Amino acid sequence: MENMCKNYVIAIDGEAGTGKSSLAKNIAKKYKIVYMDTGAMYRCVTLNMIWEEISLDEIYKIERLLENIKIDMENEDGEDKFYLNGIDVTKQIREKQVNDLVSQVSHIPVVRERMVELQRKLAKGKKIVMEGRDIGTNVFPNAKVKIYLTATAQERAKRRYEQNKEKGINIPYEEILNNVIFRDRNDKSSSVAPLKKADDAFELDTTNYTLEEVEKIVVEKIREKVDLDA
Ligand code: C5P
Repeated sequence: MENMCKNYVIAIDGEAGTGKSSLAKNIAKKYKIVYMDTGAMYRCVTLNMIWEEISLDEIYKIERLLENIKIDMENEDGEDKFYLNGIDVTKQIREKQVNDLVSQVSHIPVVRERMVELQRKLAKGKKIVMEGRDIGTNVFPNAKVKIYLTATAQERAKRRYEQNKEKGINIPYEEILNNVIFRDRNDKSSSVAPLKKADDAFELDTTNYTLEEVEKIVVEKIREKVDLDA
């Protein structure tokens, strides 16, 4: 195994609700490496556009918004909190209005350019587990480890529904399922960094696995490439 103690990126990509976040968070916590939720960054941009009443085609306004946007992620008592321009938006970025728009916003070239730039900057000099859609293909094509998770749309919607319930967010199951299907279609067909498995990624269908089982399999894979205990 080369590159034992150096910095590295573990890229975890996949469709909405495949368990990427829970998996990435657990790995980061257990092995004391940095965690980055790139979906939340696109969600923050989307919420900021909603606040400013900027529509998808107002590119000039979007560019201006991106110049001034401030996105911070803090871990407070074990909970990941997101701040948009200093305001706690942890809950708001998971709500319907953002869910409905985020996929389109994330595929506006200038938005993606700016977020990718930020993601690369934030990862510099760190051991990091980064989850998203294009981490292994676009943001870090040379990532040391690439994982690609899948699951059926029904299972993914069920997981999101339960996660939301725990967080006090009330969205009906059918609505989540429709949104998951819509976002997958949009994410995969995008001309800007579409969601797809990197050729050298390890793919895992998580439909019939618990999170603990997924973690075990993935950690074994990661250990083939990096020393998590270093
Ligand atoms: O992961 P999450 O479901 O929160 O992501 C929200 C949306 O952000 C996705 O549906 C996708 O459109 C977009 N996204 C992206 N690239 C990433 C992460 C998320 O386009 N790296």
